[in-house]
Amino acid sequence: MMLNRIIYISIIFSTILFADIKVVNKSTSKDFLVKTLKGEKKIYVSTRDLVSALSSRLYENLERKKLVLYISGKRIKISSGTSFLIIDDIPYQMIDIVHEYNGDFYLPAENFFNILKETTLPGIFFDERRKILNIDVVRYNVKSLDIKQKTNGTIIRIKTQKSFSDRDISSFINKHGWFYLTIVGGLVDTSALNKTITRGIIHRVESDQINQTAQIALKLRSEVISHEWYQNQEPSEIVITLRTALNNNVSNIKKVKERWRLDTIILDAGHGGKDPGTSGKYGTKEKDLVLDITKRVGRLLEKNTGIKVVYTRTEDIFIPLWKRTKIANEAGGKLFVSIHINSNPNRKIKGFETYLYSSSYSAEAIEVASRENSVIEFEEKKINYEKLSMERKITATMASSMFLKESEALAAIIQEELDKRLTIPNRGVKQAGFYVLSGASMPCVLIEGGFVSNPSEEKNLKSPAYRKKIADGIYRAIIKFKSSREKLLAEE
Ligand SMILES: [Zn+2]
Repeated sequence: MMLNRIIYISIIFSTILFADIKVVNKSTSKDFLVKTLKGEKKIYVSTRDLVSALSSRLYENLERKKLVLYISGKRIKISSGTSFLIIDDIPYQMIDIVHEYNGDFYLPAENFFNILKETTLPGIFFDERRKILNIDVVRYNVKSLDIKQKTNGTIIRIKTQKSFSDRDISSFINKHGWFYLTIVGGLVDTSALNKTITRGIIHRVESDQINQTAQIALKLRSEVISHEWYQNQEPSEIVITLRTALNNNVSNIKKVKERWRLDTIILDAGHGGKDPGTSGKYGTKEKDLVLDITKRVGRLLEKNTGIKVVYTRTEDIFIPLWKRTKIANEAGGKLFVSIHINSNPNRKIKGFETYLYSSSYSAEAIEVASRENSVIEFEEKKINYEKLSMERKITATMASSMFLKESEALAAIIQEELDKRLTIPNRGVKQAGFYVLSGASMPCVLIEGGFVSNPSEEKNLKSPAYRKKIADGIYRAIIKFKSSREKLLAEE
């Protein structure tokens, strides 16, 4: 077993600057300086300096290129040259790798602090631009934002912890199409707000903490004819209404609906050609099983629905992973379904499971993902990964947050439908960092339809009638998912 085989760009430190980050620790009222390395557009912080600034402990094994930090009762393992952190045995993946320099480890600052904030120290706040890390028990009073699209405008609800004086709130629209709301005395959870799923005329949400003032900026897609806001008490919130001309909006909604209509689906039979995938004791190969199941799903869709089916392969040929997502994106796919068969050294294990793409996941999931990702070994043009990996991972994170909900819904229906038809255990919906799912800009899932390593499952999988059952389940799930999504669109 090996970790994720994505090949990372090695950052060239064009300029090595020791521009320090100031760590302001309110509880000890002592300031620290933390050394940084500056890579391309990013800064990396010194682990040693950070440890003293956080008054935490450190255990090192430089020979094995490993460090263990103890922060707030959590054990954080860091290895140089990888992008993984293990926090209390749970792996987290950063967008970039840990660099070793002068006997010290340098962590990608923003990314590391985000993970630290989510897992260990909720009270930290890192301002990359001003190079300040604030450590405090922060209590945000501007917590989240929600956007609702109506036929004649957009309603935005900002959840707050308390009522503000109306005099402290102001709003305006600038000539570049940004709507601004400022709240004096507001302490905004920028990471929550900046993750808001945008819709309707809101193109982007950017929130900022400027001293004692929270600023929320909304980039508008089209002109608004009026804007106003008011405060609610129960629940405590600020409601903004942005009115748009009716016609413009109807056509916008139409466009949005068009974009969401499930008219094209990508079916991806895993492996193929020189990459056989896993195989069973009796020689059954994953690549053959999944091609057959995939074709069955495709035929059902083509025969019974108007959905256009695009296959990444219909023969026993080798298709690199990057090409699979390229095919999917270029075909304008609205759903990506990758079909695989699992294997485990423990031959007793059986069952089916469905995966979503995620950048943080369990150790067991890493094992499955590393096996599926290991196909990259077979690919001649590895250069594609080196060039793409950074950009891909960033888009992957964004895309997966946008499509995660949909992928989750589909995965749940697939498990339900397979459960109705198969007698093997339902192993549920899981998350892992499958490369093949990371680049598709559409909801995507990866199905592991059974364990070919289990002799009785292998026997089943060899039977066309059994493979038909799996295909039926996947097909049914896609139909159900499509109709539930269309119902939602009709309600808008
Ligand atoms: Zn596979």
